[in-house]
Amino acid sequence: MNDASLSTSEITEAQQAAWMDAFRHAFDRSPFYREHFSRAGLSPRDEIPLRDIARIPTVDKTVVSENTEKFLCVPREKIVDILTTSGSTGQPVVWQLSEADLERLARNEQLSFSCAGFTAADTVLLGVAMDRCFIAGMAYYLGLRKLGCGIIRVGPATPAMHLDMIRRARPTAVVGVPSFLAHLADKAAEAKFNLADCGIRKAVCIGEPVRSDDFSLNRAGLAVEKGWGAKVFSTYGVTELAASLCECESGLGGHLHPELLFLESLDEQDRAVPDGQVGELTATTFGVEAMPLIRYRTGDCAAIHRLPCRCGRRTPRIGPIVGRKDQKLKFKGATLFPSMLKTVLDAAPEVASYVIIARRENNLADAVEVKFSSAGGRAGIIAALKEQFQGAVKVVPQIKAASQAEIECLQLPDGARKRRYFVDLRD
Ligand SMILES: [Zn+2]
Repeated sequence: MNDASLSTSEITEAQQAAWMDAFRHAFDRSPFYREHFSRAGLSPRDEIPLRDIARIPTVDKTVVSENTEKFLCVPREKIVDILTTSGSTGQPVVWQLSEADLERLARNEQLSFSCAGFTAADTVLLGVAMDRCFIAGMAYYLGLRKLGCGIIRVGPATPAMHLDMIRRARPTAVVGVPSFLAHLADKAAEAKFNLADCGIRKAVCIGEPVRSDDFSLNRAGLAVEKGWGAKVFSTYGVTELAASLCECESGLGGHLHPELLFLESLDEQDRAVPDGQVGELTATTFGVEAMPLIRYRTGDCAAIHRLPCRCGRRTPRIGPIVGRKDQKLKFKGATLFPSMLKTVLDAAPEVASYVIIARRENNLADAVEVKFSSAGGRAGIIAALKEQFQGAVKVVPQIKAASQAEIECLQLPDGARKRRYFVDLRD
């Protein structure tokens, strides 16, 4: 199936068929789903239109981690790859894939990369780990191989090795985490190595947002574009879905591959939010053999756009991930994510560094404070920031100037390895 030529009714039809297969497979093979569906009053013979999928209650990472063996739809001898989800939020889950699941993973990435204009003529510098039980590096490798691309598996190696392989193997594209790609560009500049002249024309960015809500490139995206002289594509993937959504040339959100995945965007009461509005991405996987997911709340919040894309594809697209569900702030009657405040602060040239601090005010409201340091000490900076927050997010947090040392302490508390811009002091 070629996503690019599908009409809306062909997409609906393909998804309905894939959904019924997924439902019956889970009913037949997984003790967890058999119980879950029966409790919802469903039988394996039921025909459930996809538009009525809300009859089935959602599940989340906690449910899956507590019932991993009951989720499994195949005997142990069918498992060929075992991964773990990251432990950054909630309980990490051991994830298991069969041979058919690896083939589906490869197919998904083949579709994602061709959506971004990759062909067999591309040579790709892969800056993502293949090991340590991560799925992403392996998924990209399998998909690029299926597409016939040349692959340079540098992984998260030293800048010197990256630059050496760029010089010697002449890639046409790169895949990596935006902050790492920006770091490589800085190191190249220090070494008087002109990355923009190396013929790398596409940069697929994973793991961190490169766009603002209006799809323009944010600071991280612009740094990659400028440093590499390449067109920036955002891709979004979740280990448990064994699927990713990658942007096309139009850069208007990651395209969904309808035969592999169904996505909903839900509010806290499990109701669908309107197209274009931010909710929690909730996924149903199609064609998964070992650990299929049905109405799985990913914890990631983003909008789904269903209007046809400028590229002509009619498949749904997801906008930038604005944050994790547990970062959502209730502030002055509005729903706010720290990333929205970050976008404003990143765009303010007079702000040198900052942290956003949230405290619980009561059950219905959080207090939000921004502490920033300024290199220039420009007068009127707080008033200017208030105006920018008002314009961009419609509410204004408390804003305080602080010393660089104070910000450093908040960004890197004792023992922290990763700098943080959001400090959550809510219970
Ligand atoms: Zn498109």
